[in-house]
Amino acid sequence: MTGWAKDTTELVGRTPLIELKRFPTRAGGAAATILAKLEMFSPGGSVKDRVAQHMVCEAESQGLLRPGSVIIEPTSGNMGISLAMIAAARGYRCILTMPDTVSLERRLLLQRLGAEVLLTPARQGMRGAINKVIELRTTLPNAWYPQQFYNQANPRAHRLGTAAEIWEETGGAVDIFIAGAGTGGTITGVAEGLRERKPDVEIVAVEPASCAVLSGGRPGPHRLEGLGPGFIPDTLRLDLIDRVIPVSDQDAVSTAIQLMKDEGLSIGISSGAVAWASLQEARKEENRGKVIVTIFPSAAERYLHTILFDDLRGKTR
Ligand code: PMP
Repeated sequence: MTGWAKDTTELVGRTPLIELKRFPTRAGGAAATILAKLEMFSPGGSVKDRVAQHMVCEAESQGLLRPGSVIIEPTSGNMGISLAMIAAARGYRCILTMPDTVSLERRLLLQRLGAEVLLTPARQGMRGAINKVIELRTTLPNAWYPQQFYNQANPRAHRLGTAAEIWEETGGAVDIFIAGAGTGGTITGVAEGLRERKPDVEIVAVEPASCAVLSGGRPGPHRLEGLGPGFIPDTLRLDLIDRVIPVSDQDAVSTAIQLMKDEGLSIGISSGAVAWASLQEARKEENRGKVIVTIFPSAAERYLHTILFDDLRGKTR
């Protein structure tokens, strides 16, 4: 791109792809090459920028979102930051509901981006935040509810954007794609986009070991923020997935910490989880010479109050 971006939304996507070198070497070597797509380079700092932007564009072209509309969504995660950013850049009011356990830094950032934050009691979980949005819809006739777990614009953002970028950046050399599944938008959309171009590309999903619903297990608590919602969302196509790798909280965190030191890259917990899974695949003899592509959804700074930094804060958990 020559010149400059005309607004923040033009900077979404076209994230860099990097080969992990010191990390697999220090872990004892690997037979395959691991490439990671760095979504923290997007202006809202995560993979959700693409989805927020695409959902907003589709809603605008369908007439669901017009000047004066209000964007409302229950989210305490990266989706909230991306929606707040796109809403600000395009001039929409944005109301986000979330449990009152959300970290202070997250809440303050959302407010600085111009979003209105409505806190619901933590004991009601995400259900409380969802019910609040449903209630708001009855009082706000001009509200638009993106619904990231249902809206097919979510996987479409990845089919049209992320998959096309991976294809171009690797010159079609990608053999295995590995991503964590939250809404499933990333893995579904990228799988669709890559399979259109290379039908035998392998698709590997990563989920929390203590909430391994895709592997046939029961939902349970876990610390892998952004992954494992505990149900199978409408935005996830299981038929595209060849294998599911469950990753423990501890393996995700220790891998993220090791990788940050090895590569000098700031990554979040779910990036640690997919890095761990990528290393297992890269070590397999049958994958010798293959190219593995994975997605690092966000940076470590977003998880200062989580297990990623517990040891430095002097906590044991
Ligand atoms: N990691 C992080 C940090 C996320 O915020 C998300 C989004 N929920 C994911 C992974 C998973 O992405 P997806 O919703 O596309 O499955």
